[in-house]
Amino acid sequence: MQGVTNTKTILKCNCGHRVITKDVLQTGLYLNLAGPSFVYVRFRCARCKKRGEQLIQEDKWDPAVLSQSTGELGEDELRRFREMGPITADEIIGFHECLDQLDLAEEEEEAESA
Ligand SMILES: [Zn+2]
Repeated sequence: MQGVTNTKTILKCNCGHRVITKDVLQTGLYLNLAGPSFVYVRFRCARCKKRGEQLIQEDKWDPAVLSQSTGELGEDELRRFREMGPITADEIIGFHECLDQLDLAEEEEEAESA
């Protein structure tokens, strides 16, 4: 058994860099009718520039883990996240679309070389 903690899932690249909002390329939601759903996060590491992806059980997902890089949330941020309430599929989809647009130029470049 691997070490299980009660802390929020923090996204990390293989190189140890912590993934934050600006590193995220795409998020999505895997609905699983037979069990827990998963949030899917694609990122590109700001340190080693490699791409990675991670699946997080939906009830362990907290967008606050992406909010900044120092590990502690400011009071204002905490309050903001509480007011926002739990993330919904709609929000994830909206986020996804927003990131898609930001990333479009890059994706096109890669498609050409692929
Ligand atoms: Zn990395």
